[in-house]
Amino acid sequence: MESPAQKHTHAFQAEVKQILHLVTHSLYSNKEIFLRELVSNASDACDKLRFEALDNAALFEDAPNLEVRVSYDKDARTLTISDNGIGMSADEAVQHLGTIAKSGTREFMAALEGDKKKDANLIGQFGVGFYSGFIVADRITVESRRAGLPAGQGVRWSSEGTGEFEVETIERAQRGTDVILHLREGEDEWLAPWKLRSIIGKYSDHISLPILMRKQQWDEEKKEQVLTDEWETVNKAAALWTRPKSEVTDAQYQEFYKQLSYDSEPPLAYTHNRVEGRTEYTQLLYVPAKAPFDLWNRDKRGGVKLYVKRVFIMDDAEALMPVYLRFVKGVIDSADLPLNVSRELLQESRDVKAIREGSTKKVLSMLEDVAENDKDKYAAFWKEFGAVLKEGLGEDFQNQERLAKLLRFASTHADEGVSFADYVGRMKEGQEAIYYITADTLAAAKGSPQLEVFRKKGIEVLLLTDRVDEWMLSHLYEFDGKPLTSVAKGAVDLGKLQDEEEKKAAEAAAEAFKPTLEKLKAALKDRAKDVRTTTRLVDSPACIVVDEGDMSAHLARLLKQAGQGAPRSMPILEVNAGHALVKRLETGEHFDDLAHILFDQALLAEGGQLEDPAAYVRRVNALLAG
Ligand code: ADP
Ligand code: MG
Repeated sequence: MESPAQKHTHAFQAEVKQILHLVTHSLYSNKEIFLRELVSNASDACDKLRFEALDNAALFEDAPNLEVRVSYDKDARTLTISDNGIGMSADEAVQHLGTIAKSGTREFMAALEGDKKKDANLIGQFGVGFYSGFIVADRITVESRRAGLPAGQGVRWSSEGTGEFEVETIERAQRGTDVILHLREGEDEWLAPWKLRSIIGKYSDHISLPILMRKQQWDEEKKEQVLTDEWETVNKAAALWTRPKSEVTDAQYQEFYKQLSYDSEPPLAYTHNRVEGRTEYTQLLYVPAKAPFDLWNRDKRGGVKLYVKRVFIMDDAEALMPVYLRFVKGVIDSADLPLNVSRELLQESRDVKAIREGSTKKVLSMLEDVAENDKDKYAAFWKEFGAVLKEGLGEDFQNQERLAKLLRFASTHADEGVSFADYVGRMKEGQEAIYYITADTLAAAKGSPQLEVFRKKGIEVLLLTDRVDEWMLSHLYEFDGKPLTSVAKGAVDLGKLQDEEEKKAAEAAAEAFKPTLEKLKAALKDRAKDVRTTTRLVDSPACIVVDEGDMSAHLARLLKQAGQGAPRSMPILEVNAGHALVKRLETGEHFDDLAHILFDQALLAEGGQLEDPAAYVRRVNALLAG
């Protein structure tokens, strides 16, 4: 008995239209994924019901056993996925099946363009799983009733997956949702029970709800298998993480990861533990092999799902993992938290704090293990996630030392993969500090004049070019008792590394240069805080350094790019008194031009920009013209 309510036609949101077009026209491989998506939506709907019912047990009505049923009708050529979960009201059906909540269309299209196989696997990643039904169906009908609403407020949603969909109110006694796929021409393979069972086994074994299909029976007269009225469970229905480690194969861990992350690549590493003691919980945590497209979005929802005694609670539990480990995916199942734990409660709970600390430590040991036992794998990890891990140096003081050991750098000795331990192992006799330079690019760092004396003496310098490096360095001062020292800050002090003769020669040269130095200071008094002679230069005439405690030029540039005007203090100009160009100053000819050119060139060499390039050109030309 249908209510007299009218059918309403709605247009899909523009983004949905685009997605539907892509789905039906370009996804040819891995079509079977649609079943995984629809089963996972059914399972999500059951999780949501269970969660809402924590506060309102009446929502269970008289059917507390949550389940998913998959059935088909050969004559009608339909395949139906049913659940008795939360269901949808008419408004929700319009909203959830007609628009895309996360606006991932652009990323989806970009991913699809880059994907040669046009793999349907992509679809779940972008929160558009429902529409995958249209890969095999030319009409989808959804019949649903939201838990708690009367039978008269069921809804039927229907669409051919083109521009629009229809919605009408129906009478529906059954709580939950039926998704009915009217199969396209040529898509009859989805009407074969063995096929459906094998896909469910492949993708949905770990769904913790039973997935039911009708039992078959041999019919002597018809000489074929026929469906009976009896239903049987076709998945294992045991949450993978609750099984003992020894009973789970590597392939199962990998498959679970795929479902959890929608990542097409296998994970880099995983760890599965049951933690006992004051707080009891199970953790199954994965480090992906590839960074997601939104890695830099620090606000995105976390990859770790929280369960309490196998009941799904939430999947954006930032409280469970520090921000700098936002790439970790997995499941944490607590035995202690109350089932109705709220987001606010999560932030304050001591148990959650213990879980977070324990899980952080586990991830770090997993990474340490990879770093120690598989250098190539760790290098691959570092390339994808190293810059994110660096955020941890300032965010997680408790683990700062462990994190510092996990850092990898480029240096004057190797373009990548240098750890602090490697560096310390190569330190020269008498060397007390770990030297580094920050720059915008590796080329700029390598070409920096400040490195010259270090090169000459064979002292290694770390080359830091990530945006986050400056920030990291404002929290990390030393490693293994050795101070981290910028080669571009303050006067160079090679301490015991400088040999006596060199020192004396430098002092003599500086003494001789003194009168010229005073003139130079006067000529550049509006641009340089100080001018002094240096021993750090070998081939270059001059370089810019900043005073101890002043902001580095690189950081000042980063802040400027970020739109934050930073008060930049005047730099110090250091000159190489032995350089021919500097010696020319002593003649007094074109003194002013030469002084400014030295300063401008030093600025350019460290990656800076000239405030008045035209003046620079004018001075150079004046000099060239003699
Ligand atoms: P996602 O699952 O990532 O949210 P989908 O495209 O798979 O994206 O589903 C869109 C939305 O439609 C879901 O978030 C949910 O609100 C709703 N939905 C889909 N299937 C069901 C179902 N079986 N029961 C209740 N709601 C559903
Ligand atoms: Mg979904």
